[in-house]
Amino acid sequence: MFGPDRRCVVVVGVQWGDEGKGKVVDVLSEQADLVIRYQGGANAGHTVVKGEDQFILHQIPTGILHPGVRCLVGNGVVVDPDTLVVEIAELEGRGVEVEGRLLISDRAHLLLPYHKAVERASERRQQIGTTGRGIGPAYEDKYGRRGLRVADLRDFPALTEQLRRRVERANRLLQTLGVEERVDADEQVALLERLGPRVLALAVDAGRVAHDAIRAGERVLLEGAQGALLDVDHGTYPFVTSSNTTAGGAAVGAGIGPTVIDAVLGVMKAYTTRVGNGPFPSEASEADSEKLRTLGGEFGATTGRPRRCGWFDAVVARYAARINGLTDLAVTKLDVLDVIAPLRVCVGYRVDGEVVTDFPADAGRLERLEPVYEELDGWCAPTAEARRLEDLPSKARAYLDRLEALLETPIRYVSVGTRSDQILEVK
Ligand code: GDP
Repeated sequence: MFGPDRRCVVVVGVQWGDEGKGKVVDVLSEQADLVIRYQGGANAGHTVVKGEDQFILHQIPTGILHPGVRCLVGNGVVVDPDTLVVEIAELEGRGVEVEGRLLISDRAHLLLPYHKAVERASERRQQIGTTGRGIGPAYEDKYGRRGLRVADLRDFPALTEQLRRRVERANRLLQTLGVEERVDADEQVALLERLGPRVLALAVDAGRVAHDAIRAGERVLLEGAQGALLDVDHGTYPFVTSSNTTAGGAAVGAGIGPTVIDAVLGVMKAYTTRVGNGPFPSEASEADSEKLRTLGGEFGATTGRPRRCGWFDAVVARYAARINGLTDLAVTKLDVLDVIAPLRVCVGYRVDGEVVTDFPADAGRLERLEPVYEELDGWCAPTAEARRLEDLPSKARAYLDRLEALLETPIRYVSVGTRSDQILEVK
């Protein structure tokens, strides 16, 4: 992906998240100098397999697993100090050096236990299928202009006063939501007293660090979390996340200008999954869904929740290609389809008497639509050992060619297993 004209690259998810971005970013991090997370929080997590070891990263960029690569948590992320410190300790416990390589934006918002309490209570009513990690309420506070930021840790007395007011507000909300749970202000102050200095030690003007790296000609990777269909503006609202997961969000959330981004790589599974509630047009029958789930190990990295599984949806992916301005594609989990035949690809939606190929905005249409499928031959042969396009069965290549044609975007990588060597790069 990187080259003389490609120094700043964004990696985004094309579907509903869990596309295998962790693995792709891990492979690309090998060539990067700086890796930046730009949105989201300590949610689902990216899974990276290193030899016999498996790492699940929640807030820290995947680049941390590569010695010498520096990592930034951008201003667009909501930082949970509690889980951040645990994540750092876990990585260090497993021999990953974090000190001196990880920095956090002082403009990032803090996610605190009262956000989690509010989310748990709201989820009972709204049933979005959130992870209960407080990410939604933390973003609500940010946009409601009552958020607390990393920089606020520099004036602890003033922060304490603000924090007490936030806790009072959270308790009023909890009462309105009809739950008995209340948040204890002293506990939240004590938590920040304990963890604040550790977070502050990592705090910098992250946009400046990114800018300087780009100016110096370093290779910078912007690592997105979740996927296009979970974007708060472009996703299946309201069953979405609370931030912009698409490439435009990368510039805002990292504190750089959009003009310095050279390429956008979209990561997509060879089929589709979705976790949580909400529209999913190409969802397979229970039997096929179960098959894909078992073969693909489709269970949440953090929560263990089974994912809903379906066929590749070209309407979704084309939409994602457009709103992200994708320059390249990475197809993951091709190996999962090795034993499935025939294969289906959704190429349009039949709704209200017409076939549409643009992703509809309204929930009503999404509910009424019927997917239009194209059937393709399965290849019924193992792909896990393929390292060049030519190593793949011809029917697997035909499948990839069809996806490429439908998306009008070149496939740059094909992943055929969990390990970092199980990938082929198309030159
Ligand atoms: P992310 O959030 O987009 O990084 O996705 P997750 O980490 O939640 O899920 C990806 C899962 O698929 C992880 O368990 C990966 O190890 C695994 N994975 C990634 N690429 C491949 C692949 O090409 N084949 C198979 N079989 N598994 C893969």
